[in-house]
Amino acid sequence: MKRIHQLSVNLINQIAAGEVIERPSSVVKEIIENSIDAGSTKIDISISNECRNIRIADNGSGIHPDDVPLIFIKHATSKIENENDLWNISTLGFRGEALASICSIAKVTCFSRTSDFDYGVKVIAENSEIKESKIGCALGTVMEIENIFYNQPARLKFLKSDKTEFSYIQEVVVQAALSRPNIAFSLSHNGSNVLKTNSDGNLLLRIKEISGESVSDNLEAVEKTDRENNIKITGYVSNPQFTRSSKKDIRIFVNSRPVKCPVVLKAIDMGFKNLLPIGKFPYAVLNFEISPSDVDVNAHPTKKEIRWQNPNLIFNFTVSAIDKALTSVNYSKKEVYENDSNPLPFYNTAKSSEDKDDTYFVQNYNKYESKPSVQVNYADKFRQVSSSVSLNFENKKLLEINEDNNQSDVIIGQLKDTYILIETPEGLEIVDQHIADERFLYEKLLSQKEITSQLLLISDVIELEPEEVELLENNKEKLLKFGYEIKKEGDNKIIFKRIPQILSKTSQADIARELINNINGNLDDAENQILITTACKAAVKAGEKLSIWQAEELIKRWRATKNPQVCPHGRPISRVIPIKDIAKFFYRQDK
Ligand code: ADP
Ligand code: MG
Repeated sequence: MKRIHQLSVNLINQIAAGEVIERPSSVVKEIIENSIDAGSTKIDISISNECRNIRIADNGSGIHPDDVPLIFIKHATSKIENENDLWNISTLGFRGEALASICSIAKVTCFSRTSDFDYGVKVIAENSEIKESKIGCALGTVMEIENIFYNQPARLKFLKSDKTEFSYIQEVVVQAALSRPNIAFSLSHNGSNVLKTNSDGNLLLRIKEISGESVSDNLEAVEKTDRENNIKITGYVSNPQFTRSSKKDIRIFVNSRPVKCPVVLKAIDMGFKNLLPIGKFPYAVLNFEISPSDVDVNAHPTKKEIRWQNPNLIFNFTVSAIDKALTSVNYSKKEVYENDSNPLPFYNTAKSSEDKDDTYFVQNYNKYESKPSVQVNYADKFRQVSSSVSLNFENKKLLEINEDNNQSDVIIGQLKDTYILIETPEGLEIVDQHIADERFLYEKLLSQKEITSQLLLISDVIELEPEEVELLENNKEKLLKFGYEIKKEGDNKIIFKRIPQILSKTSQADIARELINNINGNLDDAENQILITTACKAAVKAGEKLSIWQAEELIKRWRATKNPQVCPHGRPISRVIPIKDIAKFFYRQDK
């Protein structure tokens, strides 16, 4: 064995570049991301030399002259400072790796000027040397990358044809342009212009600029907000008469970052189920706005893969957003298209040899007339998969009905985050928030003919004792009736395939445990025990902080129950301390 020695910085960067820079399109992606992060409203991209030379000019903030040499140093970034920032990333870049990697595999020249200086800086990074000089230049930054992989023969050998590499670059630019309709992009290849967009911020117009009217005329707007979970989805999906022969035209963004997202792809499949012929896919541009702390973008060096905090929620939310978009239109009134033989303006300019069969296909409408109705198909599906949003909505509607009944309740606050204190005409009422909510949910579930259940995309494998598995197996039918579909996985494991939709946020193992505890010893009352479990697990917990508004809602809906005084397990729910007792304690005669 040879002795150990430290690798040179350039070699370390080359190794890192292996992860971040796979091909020329990765360089384009990284540089465009930097331009976007710098607040640019105009980004011009020129590609030449078999896609090995890339020039990107932006009109963004520019780089402080003293900082320009730092951009090539690994882990040098202006975008995050401490660990907390890592869980709250609002920029596209944050790892401070891209430029260090790029300059280890290509010659990089950077020109940059900020508005605070009337001169700019030019820096050349080549063969681990950095040369810097003052220069007059426009506001913003120009990055010139030359001879990508000049020192990496193995990688160079694996590059595909100019046309193919350019098609990858084109996709990167299209994604960037779709994610930021407020930025004007231009892309040229070997001197000829391939794409040019204006910057008016309208996504539909942006889609038209990129893909033409035959696409933009066939889109339905998607927009849905889940205030409780702080998620918003916006964008467009094609109507079912317009299809693509691959999933390439489904583009997903999270906080305007292009991502690969199997959960959302699955949800789109589900949203279009029974609406598209086999082997046909929709066109879609969807952006999720979600709190940066609910999604981890640091899962992969290229930042393309993300981790959702709650994938099941995203799945159901997406399905219902697509449903909403598709059921809002009446297809029979739409114009009828024959297979479209007109080439699309943008896609045909640089189609790579791999994409031969990838032509747009517009469904002949007559095929759909024989189907019962788009809405009916979807409605069936919606019964199986629905989002938590609709339920909350339902609750609210229920509340509104009873709104005027109890105006005399004044919520004072919460004691130990467990008891709601209410001023009533009689005195002080103390309500156990968990069991009050449980009462409401229990009665609500009892009154429902069918319990909305949620198909789980990700099921946890739950380990149990063999007799516990038996117990659940023996009550399988009853569980199914109330929204739980279980599957035995060997002698001591089960998974849930569906759970009642109101439990979408509850730990699956906790649900299993509670079902077992409640059914065990109460076998003749199993059905009721299942309902009690659902209500109990879905109810607000003891120790949960509530806003006054939430407490008010909870109390209103509990007051409207048929049996507000005892919980389904028989415990008391509230206790009133009469005002006269309080007055007596303080030796007050008046009240
Ligand atoms: P990261 O984007 O992860 O911070 P990079 O290596 O891509 O890392 O860039 C390093 C730094 O260079 C950035 O943090 C930013 O401060 C600066 N920078 C790079 N490109 C630009 C640009 N076009 N405009 C302004 N600043 C830039
Ligand atoms: Mg970057």
